[in-house]
Amino acid sequence: MLQSPMTTFSELVESLRWRKFPVLDDGFVCLVDVMGSDEAVVQAARVSYGEGTKRVSDDRALIRYLMRHRHTTPFEMVELKFLVRVPMDIWRQWIRHRTASVNEYSTRYSVAIDAAHRTPPEQWRVQSATNRQGSQGLLPADQGAQLSEEERRLQEQSRDVYQRRLSLGVAREQARKDLPLSTYTEAYWKIDLHNLLHFLELRLDSHSQLEIREYARALSENILAPLFPITWEAFQDYRLQALVLTRPDIEVIRRLVLRGPLPADQASFLESQDPSWSNLARCRERDECLAKLRRLGLVQEGAEPATSLDTE
Ligand SMILES: Cc1cc2nc3c(=O)[nH]c(=O)nc-3n(C[C@H](O)[C@H](O)[C@H](O)COP(=O)(O)OP(=O)(O)OC[C@H]3O[C@@H](n4cnc5c(N)ncnc54)[C@H](O)[C@@H]3O)c2cc1C
Repeated sequence: MLQSPMTTFSELVESLRWRKFPVLDDGFVCLVDVMGSDEAVVQAARVSYGEGTKRVSDDRALIRYLMRHRHTTPFEMVELKFLVRVPMDIWRQWIRHRTASVNEYSTRYSVAIDAAHRTPPEQWRVQSATNRQGSQGLLPADQGAQLSEEERRLQEQSRDVYQRRLSLGVAREQARKDLPLSTYTEAYWKIDLHNLLHFLELRLDSHSQLEIREYARALSENILAPLFPITWEAFQDYRLQALVLTRPDIEVIRRLVLRGPLPADQASFLESQDPSWSNLARCRERDECLAKLRRLGLVQEGAEPATSLDTE
């Protein structure tokens, strides 16, 4: 979102408030309220570090320092409240983030929202062969079309059954039990900036399910980045796009550098690996190390590393 240099923070908030940014086929994220800005983070930090910090660091440098060194409490001074509309299977993952306050639409009290997430024919993903939790590639279009048609029929039938139960006077709390997990729910979701960044770090990551990543992306790009430009920039630099090197990773790098030349091939990487990995046919830590070293340009690109167990 473009912001004119003259736009004040409160004008920006007003322009975003209640605006529904679409996600998936019928979901959205929407800012309801926000308390604090980048300035509030700085203000809180200066209470800790004293006015002296004003002289040695400007606001941007201070926020970047806080982010780099995981001084997290100043980010907790900012609160954001959202209204979100999410399919229940994705909401089930979202609600695991316990540091938010939540009020969800009650399907005991009200009739369930008459909308369910539908997968378009070209978007059925194939189970990953290497990552039990993930997907890789797409099903052929003709199979996808059949699956989407079956999905439509299933959702319509379950809705008809639900409506019939209601029409016979069955309590809403019981009538809902066979509605599919694709049914949309809505909730108010309030969280501080520190915990929101933690949520985004996990849910923008490629290991998270595509659909929840779509929500995290919509929330970040449309709301968080324009409202908190300095925090967002620091978060990208020091968390989202950062690379953590473990002690074994560092040892592997040392051995590779001594062997030279670089970038090394996969055989040299295997000869430099941590001794505790070398007897294992599949080793996730080794795969992760290889991916990091490729990102650093220290090992040549090649076949994808074989990953093992993952969960959710
Ligand atoms: C890719 C992926 C796969 C996952 N797979 C599974 C799965 O298979 N099964 C499953 O059950 N869950 C799974 N999860 C959910 C995951 O285990 C977390 O529950 C979820 O990501 C919320 O993270 P969190 O606890 O850090 O966040 P929050 O609940 O927001 O907590 C933030 C931080 O606060 C602290 N905290 C909060 N509550 C407590 C507490 N009671 N005690 C101590 N510290 C606390 C912790 O430091 C925590 O990191 C998966 C998550 C991801 C991202």
